[in-house]
Amino acid sequence: ELLQADRQPEENAKQEEKIRPQSIDEYIGQRDLKEVLTIAIQAAKGRGESLDHLLLYGPPGLGKTTMSLILAEAMGVNCQITSAPSIERPRDIVGLLMKLQPGDLLFIDEIHRLSRVAEELLYPAMEDFRIDITLGKGQGARTQSLKLPRFTLVGATTKIGALTSPLRDRFGLIQRLRFYEIDELTQIILRSSELFRTEISQAGAEEIARRARGTPRIANRLLRRVRDYIQVKNHPRIEQAIAAEALSLFNVDPCGLDWTDRRMLTVMIERFNGGPVGLETMAASTGEDAQTIEEVYEPYLLQIGYLSRTPRGRIATPAAWKHLGYEPPTQQLP
Ligand code: ADP
Repeated sequence: ELLQADRQPEENAKQEEKIRPQSIDEYIGQRDLKEVLTIAIQAAKGRGESLDHLLLYGPPGLGKTTMSLILAEAMGVNCQITSAPSIERPRDIVGLLMKLQPGDLLFIDEIHRLSRVAEELLYPAMEDFRIDITLGKGQGARTQSLKLPRFTLVGATTKIGALTSPLRDRFGLIQRLRFYEIDELTQIILRSSELFRTEISQAGAEEIARRARGTPRIANRLLRRVRDYIQVKNHPRIEQAIAAEALSLFNVDPCGLDWTDRRMLTVMIERFNGGPVGLETMAASTGEDAQTIEEVYEPYLLQIGYLSRTPRGRIATPAAWKHLGYEPPTQQLP
């Protein structure tokens, strides 16, 4: 799916690496995050220490992995990248921790999905830089403590609320990543086009930016599709009209909504007079699972004000009615 911000296997890893910002100066937007981290880097370097453990949260594709790589670069250390589902077993996490060099960053994506054993191994590792491993089984089992070098854990999650509090409390810094503004996405697209050696106009870049759901990963993906399109259509450069033409061919509407977004909103409007509608009902009516709706679709719809959340369920706002071509109901008395 073009508009889902998850990493997709078809995305050429080499191309992805080519456009990934390498330093804090190349990292566009997220001003507060950059300011906080610049201070943390300087302070840690000044004291000759490793960085405090850092938790980054926010929707997928906003630059959590990228920031972690930039931090490692700035600190002059390595960054090991993994994700919670791939370190289920104690030996996975022990192996990973034992490989770390002093000061290294360990990036764990989807950290809210850590298994309990993995999480419990991490506590002493984060706090005292040691791991307690159990050797042998049953009666003869004994625990041995191993010392680890000081390291920095960078956890990334789309769902801060799903983290256990003992884990959350062990991060010295907790930072949220925001959706990007249109002008920031435009800058990202212009920069990527240059690296791809693709000609693009300012208006062409803005057209793609408006449809990118506030998300750099989606912006870059849409750019690649439009680039294919102009090449096949023999256009020398990405202009606004051709970008719009290409993206409507791919079913990306002018606000960046795709079939599932529109279906969700349409069901709310047509069957429930705009809501409130429960998450499970939305899931059933679109065939998406509830978790995907909550973590991938809703954050953007909430951000652009097409959806609001109430204790009784989700509501489609008047802006959503209008966007889909419906007349919003006149205000009802409570
Ligand atoms: P996340 O880890 O949050 O899912 P990534 O760090 O993998 O997201 O970012 C997705 C892609 O978007 C990266 O390949 C990178 O090229 C681009 N990107 C992310 N943040 C920025 C940014 N601030 N400036 C420019 N490009 C960015």
